[in-house]
Amino acid sequence: MERFEILQNRELAQDIFFLKVYAPVIARAAQPGQFLIVINDVHAERIPLTISDYSSDEGTVDLVVQAIGFSTRKIVQHEVGECFADVVGPLGNPSEFVEMPLPDLQNQHLLFVAGGIGAAPIYAQVKYFQQNGIQTTTIVGARNADFIILEEAFRQTGTALHLCTDDGSRGFHGNVTELLSDLVERQKLHFDHVITIGPLIMMKFVEQTTRKYNLPCVASLNSLMIDGTGMCGACRVTIDGKTRFTCVDGPEFDAHKVDFNEALTRQQNKKPHKHDHYCNLEKAVNEKHKVRNTRIPVREQPASIRSKNFNEVCYGYNAQEAMREAERCLQCKKPRCVGSCPVHIDIPGFIAEVANGNFQKAYEILSLSTSLPAVCGRVCPQETQCEGECVLGIKGEPVAIGKLERFVADWALSNVQPIAKEVEPGASKVAVVGSGPAGLTCAGDLAKMGYRVTVFEALQKAGGVLEYGIPEFRLPKKNVVAKEVDRLSAIGVDIQTDYIIGRAGNVDHLLQSGYDAVFIGAGAGLPRFMNLPGENLNGVYSANEFLTRVNLMQAYRDEFDTPVELADNVVVIGGGNVAMDAARTAVRLGARVSLVYRRGESELPARQEEIHHAKEEGIDFQLLTNPVEFLGDANSDLQSVRCVRMELGEPDASGRRRPEPVEGSDFIIEAGTAIVAIGTSPNPLLKKAAPEVSLNKWNCIDADNEWGRTTQPGVFAGGDVVTGAATVIEAMGAGKRAAKAIDNYVKKIKNQSYAV
Ligand code: FAD
Repeated sequence: MERFEILQNRELAQDIFFLKVYAPVIARAAQPGQFLIVINDVHAERIPLTISDYSSDEGTVDLVVQAIGFSTRKIVQHEVGECFADVVGPLGNPSEFVEMPLPDLQNQHLLFVAGGIGAAPIYAQVKYFQQNGIQTTTIVGARNADFIILEEAFRQTGTALHLCTDDGSRGFHGNVTELLSDLVERQKLHFDHVITIGPLIMMKFVEQTTRKYNLPCVASLNSLMIDGTGMCGACRVTIDGKTRFTCVDGPEFDAHKVDFNEALTRQQNKKPHKHDHYCNLEKAVNEKHKVRNTRIPVREQPASIRSKNFNEVCYGYNAQEAMREAERCLQCKKPRCVGSCPVHIDIPGFIAEVANGNFQKAYEILSLSTSLPAVCGRVCPQETQCEGECVLGIKGEPVAIGKLERFVADWALSNVQPIAKEVEPGASKVAVVGSGPAGLTCAGDLAKMGYRVTVFEALQKAGGVLEYGIPEFRLPKKNVVAKEVDRLSAIGVDIQTDYIIGRAGNVDHLLQSGYDAVFIGAGAGLPRFMNLPGENLNGVYSANEFLTRVNLMQAYRDEFDTPVELADNVVVIGGGNVAMDAARTAVRLGARVSLVYRRGESELPARQEEIHHAKEEGIDFQLLTNPVEFLGDANSDLQSVRCVRMELGEPDASGRRRPEPVEGSDFIIEAGTAIVAIGTSPNPLLKKAAPEVSLNKWNCIDADNEWGRTTQPGVFAGGDVVTGAATVIEAMGAGKRAAKAIDNYVKKIKNQSYAV
């Protein structure tokens, strides 16, 4: 056999190859955790590769090579029988555990955590310890089933193998840290040491997770290596405040002492090498997306599955995906995205922190402007706001700002405890009517300023439309809405549910009973109807009633008592978010759904994502169509809806082309249920709730747009109750501005400066 002859070469997964190479000197000396350098031919560069196995008897070393750049591709293109010009090694220090006396390890339980191609170097160690009678458990994680490598080899070692995938296509559904937590918390497994190898960002989170459980953790930083001999110094890393070289001092280090943020920044800032030999799948995917100007795709439940359940449709980004997507941001000097965000989030600022893996900092930046980031990241119409202004959108897809916001917010919900705040005994009191996004934002901002805030909410749960309107599959109640509300309670906001202002006292009573100011964020919860013949037949719902039954009262779950009667065929009327939610909810309850909208596709006011999802879920869009009559049977039960086709005429007052009926185009849609989702207006109870406050001709509160001042001193208002049905972020923006105005007002009446 020739020196460095390739004895086996097979593809394990897309672009990941297994090579067995004849290298007897290295095979005799190799120990788990070491690596070698391959020089492909006389012109080639030095490529460091981890040894995944070795046999001194056969004189072979096993390598797992990810073919990304020019040089790694050349390596894997070798045929069996061909030879490398040089193979140098073994290099680096073996795993520190290999150096320990085996009896010291015999009572210990080692946990190995591998991500992606990190499974290869982990394998050599797992095999070694299993052969020496040491108990090991191994987690191997990958993006999906296709990227799980060496599964059979791991099983043969006898290790307790746990697989996980981001999309749930193999093993545990989630990432390696979630699985690690599951093993420790739920399965109550005890580990003495954790050894992790994989992408830097993964190791950073493994380090954080193990710190939480007081577990010693070792990370192998071999992905930082360039030359592998200590000559280039490119693999420098700060360990416990001191500079170390990965290839000489490592590659393994005490993970709790590694400055991962610095390492990540260095890895990202490294200029691409001429032939880009850097072995990193994530990076390659990112490069591909950068070139194509497309987003990192977000994982979702497939339409055929999700249309039968109420679980959240979109899984959101994981840490690696979020960082890759964040890297797409151009960090514009004059970011137009910020200007188009109603609460002026420092979007480039928080995205830059995501790109660096500083999620805590990203969250702190978000929190300066928004109290409900996990909500906004899910339901804001980003395409017409921040993302609509992103310059990347001119030639390709804008940065997925909403998905990044959601990622950071979800991360914070699991990792950041709100700082509990005691309200000063003499603090000024402010009352907030309604706990929707407007009320909650106003309350949160005032509480942060030191006010004693009480929110009065008519329903049994706080959240407004977030709780009773937007369905679980778009906005989870327990894990998102309730948690965001809890964070406000933690900072001192007192939320009184089941308290209807206008029935139990009114705004004047509040002002007389010691509140210095009142904010009204009572929304626009009164459904509109069309006044068509048959609209009061049994089976015709308003979207509000239908969605409240299903969301707030959880009628879709057997153990809840509230009924929701639904026929096999359902017609939903309208084209906004409410209509999409009603239609998609009806699909999940087993109905065939037609959506009737009087304008065309491009006029649909719903978020693009909802329209896209609704279509995927099989909803039949009857566009340029309008109902003219509901038809029932002798029992007054709805049987069908008579509709007419429409065409677009001249623009109306709103600037949109007015839909006009096409004569003689009537047709019937069979349906036992119709859901009317054509808009809402404020509840007439407002007159009793705030008798001194003027309303406008649409029965909305007459308040100035800027600060929410109403016609009654000390009473402010914002959100849908002022604008009519609008959006979550607009309601939040109004709540935020009103909080400032209230602060100024209260200071003024308490004889301090007044600047509004
Ligand atoms: P609300 O959220 O309506 O909250 C008002 C609260 O005040 C309610 O909890 C109500 O019970 C309470 N209240 C009312 N009267 C009183 C009283 N007298 N005493 C005490 N409490 C009272 N927007 C988006 O941006 N994206 C979307 O995807 C989206 N989807 C939607 C889907 C549906 C089904 C609906 C109905 C709306 C959707 N919207 C969406 C619009 C958005 O939810 C609203 O614009 C936003 O919630 C308005 O916030 P708000 O705080 O003004 O009012």
